[in-house]
Amino acid sequence: MKYDIAVIGGGPAGMMAAGRAGELRASVVLLEKNNKLGIKLLMTGGGRCNITNQAIESKSLVDIYGKNGKFLFSALSGLGVSEVIDFFQARGVKIKTEQNGRVFPVSNSANDILKCLKRYLVDSGVEVRLNSAVKELIVKNKKIEKIILTNGEEILADKYIICVGGKSYPASGSAGDGYAWLKKLGHEIVSPLPALAPIIVKNKIVRELEGLSLKNVEVALLKDNEKIITARGEMIFTSNGLSGPLSLNLSREIGRLLPQKMLLRIDFYPDHSRSELEEKVLADFRADNNKAFKNYLGKLLSPKLSALILKLSGINPAKQVNSVSREERKKLIELLKGFDLEVARTAGFDQAMVTSGGVKLSEIDPKTMKSKLINNLYLAGEILDLDGPTGGYNLQICWSTGYRAGESVATSSV
Ligand SMILES: Cc1cc2nc3c(=O)[nH]c(=O)nc-3n(C[C@H](O)[C@H](O)[C@H](O)COP(=O)(O)OP(=O)(O)OC[C@H]3O[C@@H](n4cnc5c(N)ncnc54)[C@H](O)[C@@H]3O)c2cc1C
Repeated sequence: MKYDIAVIGGGPAGMMAAGRAGELRASVVLLEKNNKLGIKLLMTGGGRCNITNQAIESKSLVDIYGKNGKFLFSALSGLGVSEVIDFFQARGVKIKTEQNGRVFPVSNSANDILKCLKRYLVDSGVEVRLNSAVKELIVKNKKIEKIILTNGEEILADKYIICVGGKSYPASGSAGDGYAWLKKLGHEIVSPLPALAPIIVKNKIVRELEGLSLKNVEVALLKDNEKIITARGEMIFTSNGLSGPLSLNLSREIGRLLPQKMLLRIDFYPDHSRSELEEKVLADFRADNNKAFKNYLGKLLSPKLSALILKLSGINPAKQVNSVSREERKKLIELLKGFDLEVARTAGFDQAMVTSGGVKLSEIDPKTMKSKLINNLYLAGEILDLDGPTGGYNLQICWSTGYRAGESVATSSV
């Protein structure tokens, strides 16, 4: 049998692309190497699936994706943030918006999103073939002729959509298979790097803060003593570095700058300037002037942080606060407002939520997601050289590009 369209990869981008193409009455087969669809989708948002983000007006949404974001203009104008919400709501999934615009199913279950997409595939008449790992694409005269599966079976279609994702969390099935195929077809692959990954630092001292979670800190990334970016938000110390949304977002920039030397400057008191914090400390000291410095810090900071700051400050823990010298106070403020750690690296693909890099965007038509090199090939999702910060922005790429690819593949005449 020859299908109109074969979609490779049953993740969010592939399911959306196949569903949309089927909805437009094409005969579609969706090939997935795993024995289930959407394995990575089920892990998203800690199992809650942060489907998109409403914090930014759609006009400026592309900016969040950095210099490559403008590629998404057209796809976002088709299925943007509110259309994604409508898509799921219209199919019975109740949706809620949490802090910082993050959108989730009310049930807090990624499985409800997956179930909805599976229903979309059934309703659109898509044939889903699980345990169907694609081995290679056979190309003749700039057209894909057929697909060969690892079991030797051949799949024939008029057009093909590749949605096999990147290289992050390879155990979920996205092991970077698509890069080799596309390179062979003449596409340029912008070097894939782990992004949204924990940061590993050189300072062994962080081990003493392991598990400490902070809701409102500011971290500046410095190279050659110059601030590259500053981010504020939630952060968690790990045994060898930093994780949590703020750190994951910084890791995107760090990945690009490695192996250059970089520092992370943590401000534990971002709502106070240095002088405001000094005034506060002085006022506290005056108010309770007989208190031991150790007890003062214990009240000011969480136990793990206070123990470490106490050690690093070199101030005698038993010293009464009214005897703490000006220099000692300055040292304390320095530690609270400029706690420096040196970047070693980011964690690898096994811990990176997304892959930055991928198929070079100038070789893809942003209006249709069609390859400019191969006549009957379309691409969508994380395989493209596009990635965003945490908060639902990466799934938004998949919904928008998948929907657009499915729509244009079903309506084009090639
Ligand atoms: C832990 C974690 C949490 C995340 N949380 C969020 C979140 O809350 N919000 C958000 O926006 N983003 C989140 N992301 C990112 C998001 O999951 C990805 O951006 C998204 O899954 C990419 O979708 P995709 O369809 O392009 O690729 P994938 O989801 O990677 O799907 C690709 C599919 O192709 C299949 N495949 C691969 N090779 C072959 C082959 N040779 N033959 C057949 N099939 C093949 C794979 O098995 C897989 O099912 C998270 C990622 C992780 C790892």
